[in-house]
Amino acid sequence: MVPAPIIAKHSCLCQPSAVHTHHSSTFKDDEKPISHCLEHIYGDQIRLATVSGDADVHPIKLDWYNQDWKQRGPVVCSRRGDGVTKHNAIGAHAGPYSLYHALSVVSGQLDPKHVPDYTNAQPPVDFAPQPQWYNSEKIVSLDPLGHLAPWLYGDVARAENVEVRPSMSITKAILSLPEIQEEVKKGNLKPDGKIVLNEKGEMAVTKIAVDPVWYLPGVAKRLGVTENELRRALFEDTNGMYPELITRPDIKTFLPPIGGTTVYIFGNPEDIPNPDKKLALRVHDECSGSDVFLSDICSCRCYLIFGIREAAKEAQKGGNGVVAYFRKEGRSLGEVTKYLVYNARKRAGDCADAYFQRTECIAGVKDARFQELMPDILHWLGITRIDRMLSMSNMKHDAIVGQGIEIVERVEIPDEMLPADSRVEIDAKIASGYFTNGHVYTQEELKNIRGRTWDDLS
Ligand SMILES: [Zn+2]
Repeated sequence: MVPAPIIAKHSCLCQPSAVHTHHSSTFKDDEKPISHCLEHIYGDQIRLATVSGDADVHPIKLDWYNQDWKQRGPVVCSRRGDGVTKHNAIGAHAGPYSLYHALSVVSGQLDPKHVPDYTNAQPPVDFAPQPQWYNSEKIVSLDPLGHLAPWLYGDVARAENVEVRPSMSITKAILSLPEIQEEVKKGNLKPDGKIVLNEKGEMAVTKIAVDPVWYLPGVAKRLGVTENELRRALFEDTNGMYPELITRPDIKTFLPPIGGTTVYIFGNPEDIPNPDKKLALRVHDECSGSDVFLSDICSCRCYLIFGIREAAKEAQKGGNGVVAYFRKEGRSLGEVTKYLVYNARKRAGDCADAYFQRTECIAGVKDARFQELMPDILHWLGITRIDRMLSMSNMKHDAIVGQGIEIVERVEIPDEMLPADSRVEIDAKIASGYFTNGHVYTQEELKNIRGRTWDDLS
């Protein structure tokens, strides 16, 4: 028996005359903003979810690893047009920002029928397709064609009356960082007019923004669980937000509501897959407090700056430098958890031997970054060897090597770059397996490495 569609009715309570007259959030007393009554736009019946086997469900073909982009097909998750019955992906584009889109619509600032005009928005740099793009072992957490989606599949979108949106975008920029200016002043970095542009230390980069697109069978395999187990956990932990994780086992693609990645490339991006060219790489996980606001409790910004400097140097020598920046704040536990951990650390007399324990007490785990998925962007870039890995993390190292990418040299941050209060963090990490050419502290020695206490901060 074909199951009935899961439908709810939402009655319209607004006055018809009050609807759809205005597109601004600031309106006069006698005016109403564009409808809060979206039934007039979307209809009064809400299809809560589709079910595999629904008679009217005909998902657009998406053959994830097909090398022919026409045969592969676009990622379609939007409910717009005929998307409710034709989508082939669960979730929404733009990760957490999809909710701001909803606020813009409901507050009358955005016409829900707005069609993006992508004229001149295409990438300024060509990234040649790599064999890794079509390898089921290599890319499971981003759409390899995400940067070209509206241009490759515009015709499909129009013919099928569905929305196709990009999940990646590429641009060029100039970076101007005070620490790099200082390096140029000291003579440690020489302007060449190409990578480091001038005496002010401005640097030319190519940037790639990547939103995650998960191919569920591949993600499950990477984590060593079954696809069904993964679907159930995602469904439960998002409190049932994505019922089609359960009702549509035929749909294999999920756009999770999490932050993405930005890649900064120094040097010619076309050279990255070339094994004759050397590559320096920093994989950096977001730490807003340090990266942006220069908190001195950890080494994050210093390592980031070190990574950028070394990446630029490698590009100046004729190779490439890549810095991949992942939105995984507080080891993917979030900043709220992070500050609670800071408090617990400081009140207990911040000591390196209890560094991870404080996080585990609150979060239950010491880390939730799942580096297993991180190498996907490296595969997308065509990286097969990293000559200088600008990271001490054993988790990042093991994930990259486990994905078949060679690491020639691991480069630790110079001691003199570490900020005042960060020894607790870095020495605890080294004792837990982070790479160093220097001293690995014993648990007994870690007891003597202390950071600031609450008294020092008040
Ligand atoms: Zn940090």
